[in-house]
Amino acid sequence: MGAGLAGVTTAWELARDGHEVVVIERERQVASASSFANGGIVAASRPFPWPSPQMPGTLFRALLGNEQAIRIRPQLDPGFWLWGLKFLACCNERRHAEILRHKARLVHYSQARLGELVAQSGVDYHRLVNGVMYLYRDAAALERGWQKAEAVRALGIVLERLDPAGVAGREPGVDRSRLAGAIYAPGDEAGDSAMFCRELARRCERLGVVFRLNSEVLGLDSLDVTVKSVVTHAGRVLGDAFVCAMGVVDPRMRESLGASLPIYPVKGYSATVATARSEAMPRHAGMDESRLIAYCPLGDRIRITGGAEFAGYAKSHQPKDFARLYAAFGELFPEAADFSAARTWACQRPMTPESTPRFGTGRFINLCFNVGHGHMGWAMAAGSARITADLVSGRAPEIDLEGLRIRN
Ligand SMILES: Cc1cc2nc3c(=O)[nH]c(=O)nc-3n(C[C@H](O)[C@H](O)[C@H](O)COP(=O)(O)OP(=O)(O)OC[C@H]3O[C@@H](n4cnc5c(N)ncnc54)[C@H](O)[C@@H]3O)c2cc1C
Repeated sequence: MGAGLAGVTTAWELARDGHEVVVIERERQVASASSFANGGIVAASRPFPWPSPQMPGTLFRALLGNEQAIRIRPQLDPGFWLWGLKFLACCNERRHAEILRHKARLVHYSQARLGELVAQSGVDYHRLVNGVMYLYRDAAALERGWQKAEAVRALGIVLERLDPAGVAGREPGVDRSRLAGAIYAPGDEAGDSAMFCRELARRCERLGVVFRLNSEVLGLDSLDVTVKSVVTHAGRVLGDAFVCAMGVVDPRMRESLGASLPIYPVKGYSATVATARSEAMPRHAGMDESRLIAYCPLGDRIRITGGAEFAGYAKSHQPKDFARLYAAFGELFPEAADFSAARTWACQRPMTPESTPRFGTGRFINLCFNVGHGHMGWAMAAGSARITADLVSGRAPEIDLEGLRIRN
């Protein structure tokens, strides 16, 4: 159920394991929700969870409207407040360190699996494997970023600290006068996740996977602790085992799925713009850590993303939501982009309070979850799919799932 990054990669792994797979998706196309136009960055060097000791202060400033990248519009929905309380409970050193360990394990596994999956399938999706550049505009923030990165350097992740000249050496189009420096992660990568999903779906079909698009899941037919079929607008789909990869997961459906799914949608904005001058284009994907925007060259276009908005389930957007993105990117790469015909989009990250996904089963013994990938679903997709396929097949996953299991 669900044909985003989580669903399509899981279908691929299951089909390669020899299962007969049917993917049920309510939209007309694969990768039409969160996986459609994300930031494109597979940030293996940044497994940092959102909850941290600093976060309550940031959220308080956001509530007052004083944070440029984070907006909070308090909702009447009890799910919003419950999620918020769970999130705040994780905002301490101990939980942050614990979650970082769990998330780092999954992200590193996933990046390795992504490489294998690409080699097996031959999918083409503007993959960039020359590392990712994390840019800082002020020296104090760079120093804090470098200290924070110590936790991942200790895990063996290679990072380089660059001064503005070092950045310009790798990125000739950057306006170095804006920068204090960068943290360069040579092992991180990037690419177009929707193109990846759609190409992979075609290869899945060659393995016999059936995609039932335009089919909304309405509920499950179950007997005791076993799911018998999925009920859709277009009829019932029978199966021996089921995988829920429905991203944010409609709250009206959650109870019927028999598991606690503390997922809240966190809206983000994305603009895909044309290249103005190819020599001025960024050569790497990157992040402006001071303005909290990400950018990613995708062929002859550039994807610019940013914003984290707690604003319920609406995906609406207005031209002014993108002004901050264009301004920040335009300052850093003044001649790279032509914003006049930008394709704009907003969608939601399926966030858990810990910002780690959930795997395994709940009440139903044959319904596996692969949900809650939050802000890093691209980076975690390939490993999450392998874990889910292993669980469906009754095998032990290759990594420890401590901190990543469904809780009831
Ligand atoms: C602006 C933005 C930028 C991002 N940048 C990055 C990044 O740079 N790197 C990174 O790693 N991650 C990034 N992410 C996060 C990443 O995109 C998500 O974590 C990931 O796409 C989640 O994939 P998914 O398959 O779980 O969910 P989705 O892609 O949302 O897929 C779920 C699918 O289930 C379907 N579905 C839902 N309900 C039903 C139903 N009842 N019946 C049938 N089908 C249903 C939906 O239509 C959808 O196709 C970003 C997200 C956003 C919003």
